Amino acid sequence: MRSRIKILKRLEYVFVPARCRQCEDPICVIICPVNAITIDPKLGVVKIDYDTCRGCRICVEACPFGGAQIDPVERKVFMCDLCEGDPLCVKVCPGEALEYVEESEIVFRKREKIIEMYTKILESYKGLIR
Ligand code: SF4
Ligand code: SF4
Ligand code: SF4
Repeated sequence: MRSRIKILKRLEYVFVPARCRQCEDPICVIICPVNAITIDPKLGVVKIDYDTCRGCRICVEACPFGGAQIDPVERKVFMCDLCEGDPLCVKVCPGEALEYVEESEIVFRKREKIIEMYTKILESYKGLIR
């Protein structure tokens, strides 16, 4: 099985996942010359018609996030389509490193982390300010 998430190593301990970001206004959909990429009306995610795709790679070059890749075996484009809302990768990842959550939940968690960070900084100043 070929992964649709690519992990790029940058510094010794910095790993950056490259995957389809499910853009609101996807350039891959606009640019495909044979209209092989569409947005699923039910799920709102990008979807590839593999019978129509010619493997021309235009979408791979146009995607700014490295989300579209060429399958080295089938010679056609492939990208994460969120497994129709039930991601297999989340189920099988042995390290439980993946989660499938709403965007609003991610924003909420980030805000919580920032509040926690500022609270720690303020706590550390407590003893110094009289
Ligand atoms: S393949 Fe690239 S351009 Fe297309 S939806 Fe995914 S991230 Fe956006
Ligand atoms: S590789 Fe396939 S999906 Fe991508 S632009 Fe070409 S025909 Fe369209
Ligand atoms: S959601 Fe599905 S298609 Fe996307 S990376 Fe996970 S297993 Fe692959």
